[in-house]
Amino acid sequence: RSTTLSVVPILTNLQKNCATPLPVLHHVADAMAADMRAGLAVDGGSNLKMILSFVNSLPTGNEKGLFYALDLGGTNFRVLRVQLGGKDKRVIDTEFEQVSIPPELMFGTSDELFDFIASGLARFVQKESGKFCLPPGMKREVGFTFSFPVKQTSIDSGILIKWTKGFAVSGTAGKNVVACLNEAMGRQGLDMRVSALVNDTVGTLAGARYWDDDAMVAVILGTGTNACYVEQMDAIPKLRGENSASRRMIINTEWGAFSNGLPLTEFDKDMDAASINPGEQIFEKTISGMYLGEIVRRVLLKMAEAGALFGESVPEKLSAPFVLRTPDLCAMQQDTSDNLEAVGSILCDVVGVNSNLTARKVVLQVCDTIVKRGGRLAGAGIVGILQKMEQESKGLIFGRRTVVAMDGGLYEHYPQYRRYLQDAVTELLGFEISKNVIIEHSKDGSGIGAALLAAANSKYA
Ligand code: ADP
Repeated sequence: RSTTLSVVPILTNLQKNCATPLPVLHHVADAMAADMRAGLAVDGGSNLKMILSFVNSLPTGNEKGLFYALDLGGTNFRVLRVQLGGKDKRVIDTEFEQVSIPPELMFGTSDELFDFIASGLARFVQKESGKFCLPPGMKREVGFTFSFPVKQTSIDSGILIKWTKGFAVSGTAGKNVVACLNEAMGRQGLDMRVSALVNDTVGTLAGARYWDDDAMVAVILGTGTNACYVEQMDAIPKLRGENSASRRMIINTEWGAFSNGLPLTEFDKDMDAASINPGEQIFEKTISGMYLGEIVRRVLLKMAEAGALFGESVPEKLSAPFVLRTPDLCAMQQDTSDNLEAVGSILCDVVGVNSNLTARKVVLQVCDTIVKRGGRLAGAGIVGILQKMEQESKGLIFGRRTVVAMDGGLYEHYPQYRRYLQDAVTELLGFEISKNVIIEHSKDGSGIGAALLAAANSKYA
């Protein structure tokens, strides 16, 4: 059998089903804006949770003093301190440390986990050198980035809905995680308090705003994806007059749960059905780093089985879920050599196959199809958020410079993805308006952002 002949219809079909021409992108952007509106109207009104962050003062650049941040979002936690010198001096000094969480603590009790975190923080605080100094009358304050589902009740309190990402800690769900941390710090004899509880996208937006007054939206594209933005208070009906003293609040969209009008294939549907959360996080499963490699693997497996892509036998490794990772796609797509040697050696290392040039070219086309769809849909999502903001404040978004702060390993390391995202935004907004919309990488803004939010919400200032 000829490889090319039998694989071509599968590829053509894939390209057709993954296509994101302008009308599809417009539909996705409009649906994103509509779902956002529905989620702001009432809790449960939409796929998008549109979580209130209670952050209504973003950093201005004038913040001064010594602040800490603590970031718990996975198998590591990070601690950071920063000495802020105000408008002119800005960040005088910063230091951070990363501590890995012993696996047994992920299955232990709440007190054990928070004691471990507080003792890590206490050790870090003890190492504070003379470069850092706490202004008189101030206590050490910490911004707590906690990337698990939380029902936020104020800037410095929030109730854990459930642990995710492999954590199964008993006794935290239903509790205020800030109180858990404050109590553990007390047990460690650490005289410190949490003044802001922050989602990681909100931290990224705060970090970006510190340097750029026009930062209005933050998007994370890493293993998963999420976005937040600045909303007008009177466009949040479900707030019911609470907090009406300020005019704006950052909303954490939890946009990974979006699913309206996405061009999906049999491969997406099968991957979703086999996942630990079928039917959930469909946007995330289409655009984020955890899944792009897996979608490509599923396509290649079908091509190997039905089209003999790698010869008569199907490589065994290709049947293992998640063997092909998004960084592998990225590495293959950087190969510009005539015989695609790097593609060949990655396929050999990862999937255990010897490939001819024809097969390598097909693999690259599959990667490009899935990455292009992901990048362009992410771009459409961003435009959806901008459209929603423009609807609430005519001319204040498209009529002036607006910055979208981006972070996450996928955005940072995948040039093709980044280009597809930008192209979609430019196509959707048109050349003139898109000149005002600056999409830029804000590296690790989240850590410092949490410290800045602790400063902006200081109990002592
Ligand atoms: P996380 O989202 O897990 O907190 P990151 O923001 O660092 O952490 O994102 C890590 C993810 O970024 C990885 O799971 C992977 O999908 C993606 N990624 C990392 N490196 C690359 C790369 N070189 N090319 C493409 N994607 C990458």
